[in-house]
Amino acid sequence: MTLKIGVLALQGSFREHIRALTADDVAAGPVRRPEELAAVDALVIPGGESTVMSKLAIEFGLLEPIRKRIADGMPVYGSCAGMIMLASRVLDGRPDQETFDGIDMTVRRNAFGRQVESFEGQVNISDISGGPFEAVFIRAPWVEQVGPEVRVMGRVTSGPAAGRIVAVRQGNLLATAFHPELTGDLRVHRYFVEMAVSQ
Ligand code: GLN
Repeated sequence: MTLKIGVLALQGSFREHIRALTADDVAAGPVRRPEELAAVDALVIPGGESTVMSKLAIEFGLLEPIRKRIADGMPVYGSCAGMIMLASRVLDGRPDQETFDGIDMTVRRNAFGRQVESFEGQVNISDISGGPFEAVFIRAPWVEQVGPEVRVMGRVTSGPAAGRIVAVRQGNLLATAFHPELTGDLRVHRYFVEMAVSQ
């Protein structure tokens, strides 16, 4: 049976994630409706703008269904805004911003500074071999606090943000603050597909 991975396609870099997953030889397609969610085995939440994604998830009737699938153990990977959507607590968010509340962590939105629209830095991810990632951060969050179930997988290695947590995993949930879908380095997607297959 081929694994079906959905990419939440309300807003943001969902096309790039679909392309990255397809290169990895899985059936990947967009998820915008609850019926599409019900048909997938795993989900990717792209980068974009978490406040808008939150609003659209409510409008499209996906907020509660995704929360439920997460509680039932569906594997999910979130990048950047997707990391925010997976967090249980958000700093510098909008007061009405909702999340899927999956990973027991506190993230700070736009953490690298409002002036820092984007920056590139190296990130080592434990469990993923092949050397450090050339990570692209675009108005990215970082993780300020994690609960006991969360495994810290990656930190920024140098520069002013050195030591900041930017990759985590809690059970079937994986999140990175950077955007591997934009760089052509498919190792995070491959890691996630393996995670999802081994379910
Ligand atoms: N700053 C965005 C947010 O709050 C995230 C940016 C991104 O996904 N590239 O959602």
